[in-house]
Amino acid sequence: MFVYRTIEDLNMIWRHAATAKTAVVIGGGLLGLEAAKACLDLGIKDTHVIEFAPRLMPRQIDEAGSEILIQKLKELDITTHTGKNTAAILGNETIKGMIFTDGTILSTDMLVISAGIKPRDELARACGLTVGPRGGIVVNDHMTTNDEHIFAIGECALHNSMIYGLVAPGYEMADVVATQLAGAAKEFAGFDMSTKLKLIGIDVASFGDPFISGDEARTIVYRDNHRGIYKRINFSNDGKELLGGVLVGDAEAYNMLLQICKNKMALPPDPMDLIIKAKEGAADAGAGVVALPDDALICSCEGVTKLDICNAVTGEGCETVDAIKKCTKAATGCGGAHQW
Ligand SMILES: Cc1cc2nc3c(=O)[nH]c(=O)nc-3n(C[C@H](O)[C@H](O)[C@H](O)COP(=O)(O)OP(=O)(O)OC[C@H]3O[C@@H](n4cnc5c(N)ncnc54)[C@H](O)[C@@H]3O)c2cc1C
Repeated sequence: MFVYRTIEDLNMIWRHAATAKTAVVIGGGLLGLEAAKACLDLGIKDTHVIEFAPRLMPRQIDEAGSEILIQKLKELDITTHTGKNTAAILGNETIKGMIFTDGTILSTDMLVISAGIKPRDELARACGLTVGPRGGIVVNDHMTTNDEHIFAIGECALHNSMIYGLVAPGYEMADVVATQLAGAAKEFAGFDMSTKLKLIGIDVASFGDPFISGDEARTIVYRDNHRGIYKRINFSNDGKELLGGVLVGDAEAYNMLLQICKNKMALPPDPMDLIIKAKEGAADAGAGVVALPDDALICSCEGVTKLDICNAVTGEGCETVDAIKKCTKAATGCGGAHQW
């Protein structure tokens, strides 16, 4: 049984995979799906994903998006079990299988657990700092704990009942603390959790508020079961503002939709053009890279804006993508910014 965290974990998974016939990953979130694809790529033909929630990536995509994703995973030979709760793990010394609360059994000789973040808050607990009911050091908007001399940032910090599992919010938290230590004021106001799944070869993305519906918003859905494409956008009732969305099977429009959403840019007269005509639709809407404001965040991991990149080209003479990466650090984290 393995966790999926460090390079040492990956080396152990890699070694064990050489002898394993079946692999199970607990957790159908971003990392769990990446881990399942890695098991497959390591030659384990019988690979399963177990998800407790009724759909995959429950924090990012809706039921219909999850259905298309499950279909795509099946085509890759990854079997998905949603709404499954593990009751026990079978075997002595080595794993033999798993029993679920519905009484079913799945035989396996390898298990990777990727079921969320467990904040390393043991030091804080020992010091008597306040921690959340499910772990995480409670912080306010200044990133201070209940002891005003102690800050907490990153995945160990619990801000507004939320643990952020991405590097970008961690950098922002660090900036909040550094700014205050330098004598200026800065608060952490939460962080955009828009995301795009990579590595697995299937496009999955969500941005803004992917689930908003009902009286608060209008939704347009495009679904193509044949090609395995699902696109959903949510926009304000007056059709002027993009509020969020989900993309499965084709996330080419992700970066542009994210910027339109974040910067409250004007939408085309028919918002459907945003997902049907993808880039052309965005261009019609007066968007496109040229229309992006200077402070549009192009690389959220490294906090690189459009202006930073323009300055690297015009001011520093960077003429290749590699030169821009070296100069600005854009696309050197998760690599997502490459697509621009
Ligand atoms: C497989 C994997 C892939 C990921 N991919 C992405 C991605 O593509 N994009 C993205 O944005 N995020 C990604 N993440 C999440 C990202 O890695 C984390 O959000 C980020 O590393 C959190 O930073 P941190 O400094 O809070 O914690 P960590 O990076 O975990 O660093 C905390 C450090 O503190 C040490 N430590 C713990 N307790 C103590 C103690 N008592 N004393 C001293 N040291 C201690 C730990 O050993 C560790 O080295 C990924 C995570 C994983 C596991």
